[in-house]
Amino acid sequence: KERQRLDKLLASMGFGTRKEIKKLIKEKKVQVNGELARDPGLHVLPGRDYIEVNGEPIEYRQYIYLMLNKPRGVLSATDDRFAKVVVDLLPPRYRAYHPFPVGRLDKDAEGLLLLTNDGKLAHQLLSPRKHVPKTYYAVVCGMVTETDVESFHQGVILHDGYRTMPGELKILRPGPESEVELTIYEGKYHQVKRMFAAVGKKITYLKRIAMGPLVLDKLLKPGEYRELTAEEISRLR
Ligand code: URA
Repeated sequence: KERQRLDKLLASMGFGTRKEIKKLIKEKKVQVNGELARDPGLHVLPGRDYIEVNGEPIEYRQYIYLMLNKPRGVLSATDDRFAKVVVDLLPPRYRAYHPFPVGRLDKDAEGLLLLTNDGKLAHQLLSPRKHVPKTYYAVVCGMVTETDVESFHQGVILHDGYRTMPGELKILRPGPESEVELTIYEGKYHQVKRMFAAVGKKITYLKRIAMGPLVLDKLLKPGEYRELTAEEISRLR
C-alpha cells in the first residue's frame, strides 16, 4: 500500500466528500497517530498510520462481507434506473467498498443475501459445479403432500423441459396454505417458484434462510445487515 492524502483516503472509505472531510478535520474530529490532524493533504500510509475519526479507529481492509436480510420490493443489484437496489440499504462506509450481491433473490423474495467485493469467493459460491446448497422457507398456496416431497426428491421437470437436480422438501405445516422448507443445489432462474409450479402449486411467500455454511441471523429484520464474523468468512472459503 502506498502513501496517500488523508482526505483522499477517508473519502475512498466512505467518510464523505473531500470537502466534508476537510470540515471534519477542521472540527478536530480526525486524529493520526494520536495527534490531531490539521492538514487534509497530510500523507498517510493506510494500515500503518493509526487513524481515528470521531474517536473510532478506521479499519483499512480490502474486502467486506455483509449478511443482509433482503426485504421484499428491493432488487438484488448494485444499480437500477428505477427500482431500489440492495446496496441502497447500506451506509456510505460500506458502499465505499463497492460490494455486490452474491447471487440473486427475486424482488418479491426476502432473506439471506451475501454482499461482498470478494470476486473470487463470489465466483466459488456461484459456480454451478460446486452445488452450494440453498435453503428456502416458503408459504405455498395449497396442500403440499408427500407426493411432492417424492417428486422433488426425484427432480421435477420445469415448464421449459429442464429436469432439476434432487431437492429436499420438508413439510413444516401442511394445510390450505402450507409451510415448507426446500433445499436445492443449483440456482436456475426463479427455481423454487418454478419447481412448485411444476407440481401445480404457487408460492405466496419466499425467504432464503441458508446458503452453503451461512445461516440467516434471526436477529436481522428485513432491511438489516451485519458483517460476517471471522468464523463465518473462514467457513465460506
Ligand atoms: N427461487 C426463486 O424462485 N426465487 C428466488 O428468489 C430464489 C430462488
